[in-house]
Amino acid sequence: MSYFSEAIETMDRGELDALVDERVRYTVRFAAENSPFYRKWFHTNNIEPSTIREHEDLRDLPIISGKHIRERQPPETQEFEFKCTDWRKVFTVHETSGTSGNPKSFFLTWEDWNRYVEKYARAFVSQNFTSGDRVVVCASYGMNVGANTMTLAAQKIGMTIIPTGRCTFPVTTITKYHPTGIVGSVFKLLRLARKMESEGLDPQRSSIQRLIAGGESFADESRQFLEEVWQVPVYNIYGSTEGTMCGECHEKVGLHVPEDLVHLDVYDPALHHFVEDGDCGRIVLTTLLAPGEQTGTLLLNYDTEDTTAVISRDQCPCGRSHVRIMLPQRESETLWVAGSSFNRVDMEKGVFQRENMDYLTEEYEAFLYGDVDETTLQVSVECLDTSNCEKELVRQNFLKSFLHYRPLLSEAHQDGTFNILFNFTEPGALEFYHIKGRPKRLVDRR
Ligand SMILES: [Zn+2]
Repeated sequence: MSYFSEAIETMDRGELDALVDERVRYTVRFAAENSPFYRKWFHTNNIEPSTIREHEDLRDLPIISGKHIRERQPPETQEFEFKCTDWRKVFTVHETSGTSGNPKSFFLTWEDWNRYVEKYARAFVSQNFTSGDRVVVCASYGMNVGANTMTLAAQKIGMTIIPTGRCTFPVTTITKYHPTGIVGSVFKLLRLARKMESEGLDPQRSSIQRLIAGGESFADESRQFLEEVWQVPVYNIYGSTEGTMCGECHEKVGLHVPEDLVHLDVYDPALHHFVEDGDCGRIVLTTLLAPGEQTGTLLLNYDTEDTTAVISRDQCPCGRSHVRIMLPQRESETLWVAGSSFNRVDMEKGVFQRENMDYLTEEYEAFLYGDVDETTLQVSVECLDTSNCEKELVRQNFLKSFLHYRPLLSEAHQDGTFNILFNFTEPGALEFYHIKGRPKRLVDRR
């Protein structure tokens, strides 16, 4: 099987754009008729839904954010104003584990599930997964949708799922069931390889044939290192409860957006205009429904607070026509120093320089201290062996990668207003080990 839904995945650009426009029209009308939030929103903003004819017209609609959702659900309001279907049609309820307070609630109907499942099934097939594959899903089975929808997608393809829900499963899971793939985050998959080695199982000689990395963005250097450790291809996947599920195909030239099921626009930081293809900007998402379809939660022009760039709208070497984007990064992980911005991923790129990895584990963390006059970035890395760690080489490789393409930051570094200090620790000595939850690798303590 080379495509999950060949006709739609390879549809030519003109037809695909026409299909998107038809779905935009229907979805906006559906919103006006069924979503308590949008009914009021259109009225307050003097928008006549029928004037939204094509995807460019979405620019005329105001952009909403997670804040709007939080403010339009209990306990803030009586009803869930983004819920646009009857409770009897709601199959599952989800919450996004937001960083601030009240988590956002999402309501999925069985139709929504099928659309989410379709997106993952297309991604899996595009990564050469097929009937007979056995996949360990390390993503957690909780109030988020990812792990469950991947599990259902596997059923459509004829794959076996081993739903461990976490990457700390016993190594015997691999020796007993001979899985061919694992879905997890880069760090968890690196840790797992280390654990397997320590228990006498060489990851490169295991049954694993490919890995899927998701859950958070990462530098391409970390992916390359993960591929080297396992000696298998690693594919990116990006998904959220809001319904963006984009997957990298086996060509590894960007993540395909399932354009018929979700519409993504890339906006400038002020959220006024679309940016040119190739330029980095904010991902603004719009649910797409085919005429006649229904949904539990609908979003138009929703600011995901993630950033990306369009790589290409041309046909991919894999044959798919759907637009390809860069692996999105979290805006909340972007910090500004000396008029220059950098993301957690940029730092990770510096740490994961290939030469460094002969001396370091994959673990690191960084803290930013200071005030307007002087800022210090403290980067802590773990040495495999502190008595044999080429600290100066690691430092130089980091600086070369991190300051390249950042002239303002580089200048500030030279004139002493931006210091970068390194801390080399033994395995297990980083601060995040003492804090529960997912490690925060870049912390702003200014
Ligand atoms: Zn492709």
